[in-house]
Amino acid sequence: MRPNRQQAQNLMSVLIASRKLYNCGLEELVSHYAETGKHLHLYEQDKKHGKAEHPDLPEVVGDTTLKRLHRSFANFFRGCKEGKKIGFPRFKGAHRWDTIQMRDAGPSLKGNSFGAPRQCGGKIRVNVHRPLQGTFKYARFVLRPSGWHLQCVCDIAPSPLPVQANAVGLDMGITYLVADSTGRQLKNPQNLQRSAEMLAKAQRRLAQCTKGSNRRRKAQRVVARHHKRIVHQRQDTLHKISRAYVNGYQVMAIEDLRPAHMVRHHALARAISDASWGQLRQMLTDKAADAGRQLVAVPPHYTSQNCSVCHTRVQKSLAVRTHVCPHCGYVADRDVNAAQNILHAAQAARARTGPSPTGGEGLRGHTR
Ligand SMILES: [Zn+2]
Repeated sequence: MRPNRQQAQNLMSVLIASRKLYNCGLEELVSHYAETGKHLHLYEQDKKHGKAEHPDLPEVVGDTTLKRLHRSFANFFRGCKEGKKIGFPRFKGAHRWDTIQMRDAGPSLKGNSFGAPRQCGGKIRVNVHRPLQGTFKYARFVLRPSGWHLQCVCDIAPSPLPVQANAVGLDMGITYLVADSTGRQLKNPQNLQRSAEMLAKAQRRLAQCTKGSNRRRKAQRVVARHHKRIVHQRQDTLHKISRAYVNGYQVMAIEDLRPAHMVRHHALARAISDASWGQLRQMLTDKAADAGRQLVAVPPHYTSQNCSVCHTRVQKSLAVRTHVCPHCGYVADRDVNAAQNILHAAQAARARTGPSPTGGEGLRGHTR
């Protein structure tokens, strides 16, 4: 977005007002529950925060903000019910609030300008870097270290790819980003490594600044930009990888690792790979659903220990990078062997339950 000075001010004050509404709404919900033992309904809370109470906040933004609050409550209670750890909604500090959300409406994007509510500054100039696809759902303004961005969320119809009869197993490692059952290993891109070094440097510089100083504030913004850059580079890589596998294979098998199973390490490389796993899985899930392909998650039992040819268990520590089977003599990279085991497990599971309608019969496993 390219707001002028006045509009940038307007956007900022709407952002702050919506954050205050969120926090105030959260407090209201908590105290209402403490007093009455009942959950305050969204509709009733919405009535309390009308136009008169928040003249500087567009009505749309007031509604969506309260909706967000109630959704995070619903998520929390769902987590309690299903035994998942979903945090209690928290009060939002200035660094935890960067989005102004609009509501379902006709697209207000006309040429190079977006028709924002009056309080946000009215018509705002935007650089449209890609055309809208599908049907427009809603828009939001997001404040990033690089400035304000417009996101248009659209509903896009699935575009299935022709059905094939092949499958691949994928394993995500530390030294390599992904190893597959055909023996291919995809490295973390060089530029990600370089950005990580730049980030570390910027963080060292930040640590040297006096607290509360102007210099520190500037250094903080530099660090934030480096973080964002790394996020974008990683997403770019993962989008390309997931696209390649979804285009190439009918069935993709992965390990069913939940975030809770993953060990957090302070090493940057490991932190990046931790974050990548969940994202890649999500991207594979989304793209597979869109293309009519299948993603099979298998339980991660001894996938790195077993021999993928003769199924003997070959114990090895994390430091051992090569699988050497004393029984049948099979030698492969540790992660490739694991990927082949993951593929076998998925095929065994499919044999038990039978192929699904979209899967196609007689899978040809790409093992070697
Ligand atoms: Zn073997």
